[in-house]
Amino acid sequence: MIRHHPDDSLLMAQAAGRLDSGSALVLATHAEHCEQCRERLRSFDVLGGVLLEQLEPTALAEDALSRALSAIDAPETPPPHRPTPLRRAALPEGRAWPRAMEGCAIGPWRWMAPGMRFSRVTLPWDLQANVILLRIGAGKLLARHTHSDSELTQVLHGSFHDGRALFSAGDFDATDDSILHQPAVEPGGECVCLAAVSGRLVFESRVARTFGSLIGI
Ligand SMILES: [Zn+2]
Repeated sequence: MIRHHPDDSLLMAQAAGRLDSGSALVLATHAEHCEQCRERLRSFDVLGGVLLEQLEPTALAEDALSRALSAIDAPETPPPHRPTPLRRAALPEGRAWPRAMEGCAIGPWRWMAPGMRFSRVTLPWDLQANVILLRIGAGKLLARHTHSDSELTQVLHGSFHDGRALFSAGDFDATDDSILHQPAVEPGGECVCLAAVSGRLVFESRVARTFGSLIGI
């Protein structure tokens, strides 16, 4: 059962296409498995349409019709060539990659600390997006940290508790500089999360801080 969802301001921004690519990917991954959020997104879509209809009509430029017609007649530009991206990391047995991540290149699992690995997710349509996968072993604790800006997380597998709540597969979490937490993976099994990081993770300990900057989080 999904217990943690994105709030309405995030869902509205997603419906309006106003989120950065990394955040939009994490939201889409959540909505894929959450009927409740898909429903909210649909209603915000409709609301957006109604608001557009209520806008005051404005006069069109004189050549608007001829420009629209020639745009329709113009030959279609072929879609940009997108090579099949590499997926060099695998999810735990029995877990499939979310459809929303189709087209993303997924780097190999890299060592981060004992029992902890990370993989960099590259969005070919936005190379600046800072998206990572974290794969943390059963019972392991991440270093205590806060965030210089925001971090959106979707749990793909397993579960963790960060002192505020328990987050399990399908759950979504949004954190910012107001939250200092130390996620601990539940003892039952490993946990895999997809995270979009705006700004940096700010670790309390100097060692974790140095390491975080080395791997670019
Ligand atoms: Zn939801």
